[in-house]
Amino acid sequence: MSTITRESLEALEAAVDMVDLVGGRTPLRRSGARYVGRCPFHDERTPSFSVDPVKKVYYCFGCQRGGDHIKFVRETENLDFAAAVETLADRYGVRLEFEQSSPADERRRAERARLLRLLDDAAGFYVRYLWESEEAAPARDYLAGRGIADATVRDFRLGFAPSAWDRVCAAALAKGFTAAELGQAGLSGRGRRGPVDRFRGRLIFPLADVRGRIRGFGARQMPGGEPPKYLNSPEGPLFHKTDMVYGLDRARAAIAAAGRAIVVEGYTDVLALHQAGFANTVASMGTALTEAQVTELRRVCSSVSLAFDADAAGEEASLRGMAIAEGKGLAVRVVALPAGQDPADAVLADRDAFARALDSAAGVLSFRVGRALATGGTRDEVYARAAAIIAAAPPSVERDEQVRVVADRLRLTDDLAARLAAGRPQRAAAAPEQPAKLRRSPRERDERLFLGMALALPDRGRELLSELDVAYFSDEPLREAAGHMRRLLAGEGETEDAERWAPLMAELNAVAAREVPSDSALEELFWKLHLYQTEDELKTLRRNADLDLSQQQELQRLEELRLRLLATLESVRAHAPDR
Ligand SMILES: [Zn+2]
Repeated sequence: MSTITRESLEALEAAVDMVDLVGGRTPLRRSGARYVGRCPFHDERTPSFSVDPVKKVYYCFGCQRGGDHIKFVRETENLDFAAAVETLADRYGVRLEFEQSSPADERRRAERARLLRLLDDAAGFYVRYLWESEEAAPARDYLAGRGIADATVRDFRLGFAPSAWDRVCAAALAKGFTAAELGQAGLSGRGRRGPVDRFRGRLIFPLADVRGRIRGFGARQMPGGEPPKYLNSPEGPLFHKTDMVYGLDRARAAIAAAGRAIVVEGYTDVLALHQAGFANTVASMGTALTEAQVTELRRVCSSVSLAFDADAAGEEASLRGMAIAEGKGLAVRVVALPAGQDPADAVLADRDAFARALDSAAGVLSFRVGRALATGGTRDEVYARAAAIIAAAPPSVERDEQVRVVADRLRLTDDLAARLAAGRPQRAAAAPEQPAKLRRSPRERDERLFLGMALALPDRGRELLSELDVAYFSDEPLREAAGHMRRLLAGEGETEDAERWAPLMAELNAVAAREVPSDSALEELFWKLHLYQTEDELKTLRRNADLDLSQQQELQRLEELRLRLLATLESVRAHAPDR
């Protein structure tokens, strides 16, 4: 890692506005030459926290914490020195210079800067196309129909991708970007005669990182357009879907000020909520919160309110996301929305009702017990479900309250209520809460073996990993591990903490060592993972009784894909030289 020059650090110190910086965390008022407020580091009623705007230092007489602007960002956002300096430099518009950076560092930095510029250019192109083209009229109508104001659409830099084959690619190539760069930025696919645009005929949502730099795009299908409904940028050097929190760049200050983030599922939900004045809203990229997203949120706030569609909130993935958030120390509340409404509908239909729902959001335990009570079955079954959830919860006021709720609702005898409170259900009843994965499924074994072999054969591993969507892995830790490995093999592992991954990497190594790693074995596993994923999607689609036309087409496409994958697997096996 290269060193930031002393001159840059001095320029940064001069540029930082300490009252603005600290004021984003805790309200300050002037008191003589200083500013005072309640300490952001400890809980207190009378202000003992003081800021010197000239010397740019802070100190708390209560907990004795103090420091300068960099220390403040490190402590409040849980960043290391370099990241804190970069965050501040971004925020106060200071250009950082680095000492003794190696030529390789410089080259990587320059390459990344070019990709970021390419993405930003593309975003600008999509924005112009949304507002100026005839073709985008249905998209503008769609947004207006969802109640999203033009100002909001502009604010979030929404755009539209032309349905023509290569408008974005052609524009980028004309500006001197290369086909390889288009691929790395996730903007192109391979056409017969060179790169073609990945996004065509879709509404475009730029996906920015926490510092507002566009890393990729989410593209929504328009009525009558080709499935899938949402198409994202592929995983690449700049875009890792599971790390992104949509809207965090815009919501960050409001989240820090409120101490809380509202987390929704959809891009449109974020737009609608911001528009309605809930500026501390962000979206997970899909239903579940990932570890990386929770880590990002944990840096700016201590609690989250999840406002998912009524059905989605109860889904396994959402529940897992809640568990991850709680596991990382975030207080989680679940906002009850009217059935059939997403947050955007709800807030546009009745803003006050939405605000009340936010205020009265329940804790995860209350939410889960409520669901257990609402799901049908005999009284014994309902009791068993609720008891299993309560038994797994640590002692708390909320838990006591839920014991009372269940006892009340099911009219339990005092004896049964006491047993419920003591939390001694049979082991079997508690099991579904945290399934012990002692035996892995064949798919899970293959996924681990694939990653293990990719580590053992870094050249081929890098190639195949970069072609695989990490969403193909069946559980979240492996998805994150795959993302980490991809960065590692691409030589970009520097920002990751190696410690966190060490145990899993050791396991993967051991898994691969039991087999004989070979390119052909790795390739076979690669196709098997595709097959598992395709079969998974097929299963999900088939579970749905009445498919609409586009879903039927999707089903057919998947069935054909499955046959092709089986044939590919056959041929890979037949040509394996070493078996
Ligand atoms: Zn303090």
